[in-house]
Amino acid sequence: MPTSPSAAARIFRVALPLPVFSLFDYLAIDDEPICPGVRLEVPFGKGHKIAVLMEISTTSPVAVEKLKPILRVIDREALLTKQDLALLQWVGHYYHHPLGQVISTALPAGLRQGNTAALPQTRYLALTDMGKNFDASSLKRAPQQKNLLEQFQAHTSALPETQLASLQNNWRTAAKALIGKGLLMPADAPDMVVQAPAHNTGLSCNADQQAAIAAVTDSFGKFRVFLLDGVTGSGKTEVYMQLIAIALARGLQVLVLVPEITLTPQLEARFRQRFNVSITVSHSKLTDPQRQTAWLQIRQGECAILLGTRSALFTPFKNLGLVILDEEHDTSFKQQEGLRFSARDVAVVRGKQLGVPVVLGSATPALESLCNAANGRYQHLRLLKRAGVAVQPSLQLLDIRNQRLQEGLSEPLLAAIRGTLAKHEQVLLFLNRRGFAPTLICHSCAWVARCRRCDANLVIHRHEQRLRCHHCGSEQALPKHCPACKTGELTALGLGTERVGQVLAAIFPDKTIVRLDRDTTQRKGALENYLEQINAGKVDIILGTQMLAKGHHFANVTLVALLDVDSGLFSIDFHAPEKLAQLLVQVSGRAGRAEKPGKVVMQTRRPDHPLLLALIHSGYHSFAQTALAERQEAGLPPYSHQVLMRVQAASEDAPLAFLNAVVALLQQHAQTKVEVLGPAAAPMAKRAGLYRYQLLLQSQHRQALHRLLDKLVPQMEAMKGKQKVRWSLDVDPVDLY
Ligand code: ADP
Ligand code: ZN
Ligand code: ZN
Repeated sequence: MPTSPSAAARIFRVALPLPVFSLFDYLAIDDEPICPGVRLEVPFGKGHKIAVLMEISTTSPVAVEKLKPILRVIDREALLTKQDLALLQWVGHYYHHPLGQVISTALPAGLRQGNTAALPQTRYLALTDMGKNFDASSLKRAPQQKNLLEQFQAHTSALPETQLASLQNNWRTAAKALIGKGLLMPADAPDMVVQAPAHNTGLSCNADQQAAIAAVTDSFGKFRVFLLDGVTGSGKTEVYMQLIAIALARGLQVLVLVPEITLTPQLEARFRQRFNVSITVSHSKLTDPQRQTAWLQIRQGECAILLGTRSALFTPFKNLGLVILDEEHDTSFKQQEGLRFSARDVAVVRGKQLGVPVVLGSATPALESLCNAANGRYQHLRLLKRAGVAVQPSLQLLDIRNQRLQEGLSEPLLAAIRGTLAKHEQVLLFLNRRGFAPTLICHSCAWVARCRRCDANLVIHRHEQRLRCHHCGSEQALPKHCPACKTGELTALGLGTERVGQVLAAIFPDKTIVRLDRDTTQRKGALENYLEQINAGKVDIILGTQMLAKGHHFANVTLVALLDVDSGLFSIDFHAPEKLAQLLVQVSGRAGRAEKPGKVVMQTRRPDHPLLLALIHSGYHSFAQTALAERQEAGLPPYSHQVLMRVQAASEDAPLAFLNAVVALLQQHAQTKVEVLGPAAAPMAKRAGLYRYQLLLQSQHRQALHRLLDKLVPQMEAMKGKQKVRWSLDVDPVDLY
């Protein structure tokens, strides 16, 4: 045993940001007290790296003489607390992902690179006594100053400069003038816990909402998971906001996770309107310094509410009291590359570790969550009616067999659109495909435009005269003639939003049509701009992709039409019916959200399809029950557990050879409780130039599955031929592609 008994040795066991499962040992350089969770700079190879201290030990499996001393200690106090580290360790374990890389996911880039963990000094401004009583309307000739003064008068506490920027453009000039007039002054940072954390008390809640609020409030300070299950428009967001107000009044911080925040600027606006505390919004479009500041503010308790997407989950809090995850069914909570974690599941683990309640909200809960509610692991809170005056929209299947279609629009649908527009109400059309058409085909030789790097057709983007692959991003000019037979006429097959937009513009030349998809909303601020126009009533027809399903609130939309639900009915992934049902219900939920009743029309060639009939006649929950029964019958999740192993390589044979070797290893372990399905080519067998294979492991016993992986993963690491392929594990996959 090379273990060193030397009493003097102080050994730091650290995690490094490397694709390696083990920790690394280094020698301490002095006796300064130091605890796990601080960052260290350590020598590595010819260079150096930033490490996080996990353990202090006196022994090492490596001979002490061979250990190198660290270069320096970066943090004086732990950047990550014991609890933060425990969560990250759990995540590394459960997802079979190297701890150093898990930690990298949790840290903002600057901190990963060793930046000091100090916040830039935030400057605050506050009203002077004169400013408090000043009549803002007398500033009407200086609207910028008037507006800024009103913002201050609406808040009771000092405001940080960082927040002023989000309240008003050009606030500096106005602030300078107001300081000059003796109405504003520089101030100290206020305490996080302000006297009145909310601007107003919110709406008076109905009985269901009150019951939900009471149940969660009772569990403050304890771990408990709630499934807040309420139809769209039933007032879930109102429940969140009232719960947040209660948490803030108790001096607790709140974490709110949403699927894609840039798609739902309305939510942020509602929060800012309601709360008088500093709110941090964290999402993938933040710059690195912004992300670091947000992270540190939350950690130091300078910010009360963190509103963010899945990666915000790992932000350390000073005093977290409540976790809310909205639209919990949304698969964007599952990261699809690198550390493939489910923010929903890890949020529950985090709540458990910290002893705080977790609220999962949705109008269309995931089947897993409904199962957890049924077996008592989650407490089921239901909001059965729409809040306020809005009523549920009526649903109708429109059989389009034998109908004449104009670019996918049937005559009865066009009539319904005309009727709605005549009443000066808005129409929302949903088609889950962007671009002009998904297929370009030669009319004489049947050549089809395919991506050279993927097993997929190229999508026509007619306006830009391009063909694009929606999987790898490669593109080329739209050919004028068939590249194969040189003479044939090229035809666009199928429908995309661009094509439907064109025909709508031709049929309704005097109406304003807005197309919302990834192509039209790429520019920063474009989506916000469109949403504003829609809500100001300047738009008649909204046409878009699944982007429309994401919690938007269009008060004047009374007709929602789904142009093509059939393409979702035929998929080999067992998750597909669940996802389709959620999408249909979520899109339908955009109709009639205010006073006017809404109507939903679904065009289909399968009006007798059981899934569609169940949804229309008995609603999502009845569908979910049937789907769960089917899953149980088939032994599929949530009644079993899956891990999908994906392998890809530039050479065609390498992935299969690798997986065959893995199967041989699995046979050695002879774990009968785990079923091995495959290897098989991935449903998209080639993508971005790489050949793809996969292997599915499935078991009724989560423990058995994970113990097997604990043994298998190190063996795979050591396997010959490993360099030729890239492999990944997807624990609890939501997408088998
Ligand atoms: P959800 O998040 O479930 O879609 P929201 O919280 O956004 O629902 O509420 C939908 C609409 O109903 C909003 O306009 C909201 O202001 C309103 N609302 C919510 N709760 C109430 C209530 N108790 N009384 C009146 N209106 C309400
Ligand atoms: Zn041809
Ligand atoms: Zn491609």
